[in-house]
This record gives sequence, structure tokens and C-alpha cells, in this order.
Amino acid sequence: MRELLKAPTTDGLSAAELFNESISGGLTYNDFLILPGFIDFGADKVNLDSHITKRTKIKTPFLSSPMDTVTETQMAIHMALNGGLGVIHHNCSVQEQSDMVRQVKKFENGFITDPLCLKPTDTVRKVLEIKKQFGFCGIPITETGKLHSKLLGIVTRRDIDFLQGSNDETKLLSEVMTTELTTAKQGISYSDAQKILRQSKKGKLPIVDGSFNLTALLARSDLIKTRDYPWASTSARQLLVAAAISTHEEDKIRLEALVKAGLDVVVLDSSQGNSTFQIEMIRYIKKTYPSLEVIAGNVVTTEQARNLIEAGADALRVGMGSGSICITQEVMACGRPQGTAVFKVAQYARQFGVPVIADGGIANVGHIVKAVALGASGVMMGSLLAGTTESPGEYFYDEGKRLKKYRGMGSLDAMEKGDAAGKRYFSEGDKIKVAQGVVGAVVDKGTVKKFVGYLTTGVQHGLQDIGVRSVEELKDKVASGEVRFQKRSASAQLEGGVHGLHSYEKRLFS
Ligand code: 5GP
Repeated sequence: MRELLKAPTTDGLSAAELFNESISGGLTYNDFLILPGFIDFGADKVNLDSHITKRTKIKTPFLSSPMDTVTETQMAIHMALNGGLGVIHHNCSVQEQSDMVRQVKKFENGFITDPLCLKPTDTVRKVLEIKKQFGFCGIPITETGKLHSKLLGIVTRRDIDFLQGSNDETKLLSEVMTTELTTAKQGISYSDAQKILRQSKKGKLPIVDGSFNLTALLARSDLIKTRDYPWASTSARQLLVAAAISTHEEDKIRLEALVKAGLDVVVLDSSQGNSTFQIEMIRYIKKTYPSLEVIAGNVVTTEQARNLIEAGADALRVGMGSGSICITQEVMACGRPQGTAVFKVAQYARQFGVPVIADGGIANVGHIVKAVALGASGVMMGSLLAGTTESPGEYFYDEGKRLKKYRGMGSLDAMEKGDAAGKRYFSEGDKIKVAQGVVGAVVDKGTVKKFVGYLTTGVQHGLQDIGVRSVEELKDKVASGEVRFQKRSASAQLEGGVHGLHSYEKRLFS
């Protein structure tokens, strides 16, 4: 009896058995489950550290997609603060993209690095409008009304409290602003700046450079809110940032600007990465910028992966046609079910120590756990992060729901805005543009700070149920066949979701 209990069980399937294509065909995340293991530790002890390139290790395996409705400065900052990595899109000018990279590198937690400024010739009405729209009215006044221009004063609530009539509203800010200022020098530490702000009893502390140009602002109201981010992705005390480029000759100029701005990781953004253009670009980057990490792709087969690994890729981005906004498989007849693509490429790339990023089709926490179990070192998310406070774009209402636009980079809409979108799909020279994506909207998800926290805790619980204490342990135990899987029939998938209720509310976290 004892011996029997000790014998290893053969319940379920190994990953290799599950992904035997002659039996299962192509599978994706909803087609299977992971069998639970043994728990003798708390979920908060699960370590999510992961190498998302050969040399870049981060604390949560989350990347935000290089899409113009997902990742610009704010998303990249908050992904990095929360232990992930933001990939800034390239459907914009070289200057705009490198400015975004620079802003992430210069970000200092607690400081407002892009404060709203006005100029002395603006009127009180503008301040009242800002107060109505954003809820604050402590605004620095600079010579040009922009950051990095000479600081002349500050307008606060006290300066405008009794100015509401139409005559008052046309008053110039130069007449009402406070010019006796307490400021701090650029480079001051956050804790020293906090001390000055507390002692000054003022609402705002402008930070200025040697020529008294405004470079940042510290707000009293933020002192209480500022959190520590012990998991932040950093290098030399600056946040890590990635950015996407294409594989055209002119992208070498773009890359040079991005590297000057402090780029840490470059993503070669192509829907089909197995091309001479990409292979040459990888070789060029490795030769020109040896310390820059390159995520190449996209690929879904081992053959594609082999070429990019051989050229020197530091990681592979896997997925073709699996994105929520994507119509590639429908239009091009090319692609692969995402579960199979991630497993096959990750299994192959593992032999060479090249991490794999599962890109597209991640719709919930369970999908992240499954992608990691199939060998991914990170997941790249578009729709899941779109609709957060930090994603680009304004909220709008439709039938009482608060929404934000989310569009595929292969949508006609995106291709008409910039040429990077077309380049991703090799269609920049086409007379007739063939769309590979759609334009849509997603519901408001609140701030990334909370949402990524939810993803992190959710993934920790998933690994705890499997009985593994880390991403690395999960990958090892899947490779050795110790972690077991089960295929799900269509009815098992229905059973696994909410069913049989008249109505319900699905709140995901609090
Ligand atoms: P999601 O997380 O929304 O399921 O997928 C996001 C991913 O879809 C992106 O990271 C990118 O790889 C891919 N993608 C973005 N836009 C398009 C598009 O217009 N067409 C296709 N085929 N893929 C897209």
C-alpha cells in the first residue's frame, strides 16, 4: 500500500502529449486546463521573477503592446513601476517616440514630470476651466506656458478664490499670480523635496534647473498618495523602457534617437518576423549597439524561430492572428492557434536560452498562467491594458458605459495615422490597403496601478494551485512532465465558465 502511494501517478497529460498535433490539432488557452498540485506555501511567497530577454529580468512577466491605443509614456512608466515593461509604439514621429522614451527614463517617483503650465498672458478663465476639468488649480506660470521654460510664478486656489465674475475672468495671470516662490533644484531627492514642501506649507513645490527653468513639480496632495514600488523594473535607478521599430533602412535613424534617449530593449515589430529584413536588422543592432537587447518576431513556428535566434535575437515574440483586434487569420490564411504556437516555439527556444513572449489573445489571468506554463517568460497584452487610465486616448460614454478606443495596428484607422502600422504588415507600398485589424472600444478598467496588482496576485494564486513557487519552477516541472494538463471539451469549457444563472455581476477585484 505504502509503495503504491509513493509511486508517481500518470494522471492527465504532459505538455508534450497535450500538444501532439496529430492527436490534438492546434490548441489555444481555453482548450486545456492545468491539473492542480500540492500546496504547502502561501500565494504571496510565489516568485514571478522572469527573464524577458537573455539579460533583462523583471519581477512580473507583463509587457504592454506597442500599440497607439495602449503604450505611450504613462503606460510605460506604470508598467515599469509595477514590475513589468512597457513597449512604446512607433506609429508616430521619431521625435515623439524618443521624447516618450526620455520621459520614462527621467521619471522620478513622486515628481510630476509633465505638469500643466500656463503663460503670464493667459487669463483667469483658463485656470477656472482647468479647475473644472481636472479638479486642481495650482498651476506654474512659465515664460512660454510650457515645461523647460523660465518659471515666473504660480497660480493657486488662493489667488483666484474671489475671481469668478466675467470681468475677473479676463484678468491676466501676470496680475494675479504669486511670484514669491519656494523652489528646489533639479536633482534633489524625493525625500528632501518632500521635507521642503512640508516646511513651506505651500501646495506645490516647483523644481527648477540652474537657469530657473521649470523641470518638474511636487504636489502636497500627492505626498500622501505616493507609494513605494519595490518591484519596479529598473537599471541604474531609472525605469526600464522598451520601444518598437520596424525593419526598414530609415528605422536605423529612429533607433539611434531612441538609444540616445536611453532605450533598454528594442522590439522589432513585424507580424511575420521571418524575413531577410529582420535578420539583417538584428545583425545590425547586435553589431552597432551590443548592449541593447532585441526582442524579435513575430513568429509561431520553430523554423521561423531558428532564423531569428541564429541572427542573434535576445527574445522572441510569439503570436500571429491571436490578438483580440486581429483579422490576420481570416484575411491571410496564415497564423497558428496561440497555445500551440507558444508551446512549440518556447520548447525550441529554451535549448538556446532564448526567452519567449506570448503576444496576443490574453483575455484573463488564467490565460497568463497557461502561457507561462507553456514556456512563455512574459505575456504581452493589448486589450487587457487598453481602457486603463494610463492608456492613450480620452474616455467616452456609450449606452451608459465608460469606454476607451482600442484599435489594431493593422486597422485602416491606424494605417492612415502613421506609416509604422502599414510597415508592420508589409503593406506600406500597396495601392489598396488590406486591413489586418479592426477598430473597437473597451470598458474602463481604472488605473494600471491596481489592475497590474490584480494580475500579479491572480497569477501567484494560479501558480500556488499548480503547486509551484516560481515561474522558473513551473517551466522546469512542465518540461520534466511533472506538471500535468487536461484537454477540455466544448462542454467542459462551458462548465468552466459561469453558467445556469438568470443574471450575475462579474467583479474581478477590489
Ligand atoms: P490582444 O492583447 O488585444 O489580444 O492582442 C494584442 C496584440 O495583437 C499586439 O501585441 C500585436 O501583436 C497584435 N496586433 C495589434 N494590432 C493588430 C492588428 O491590427 N492585426 C493583427 N493581426 N495583430 C495585431
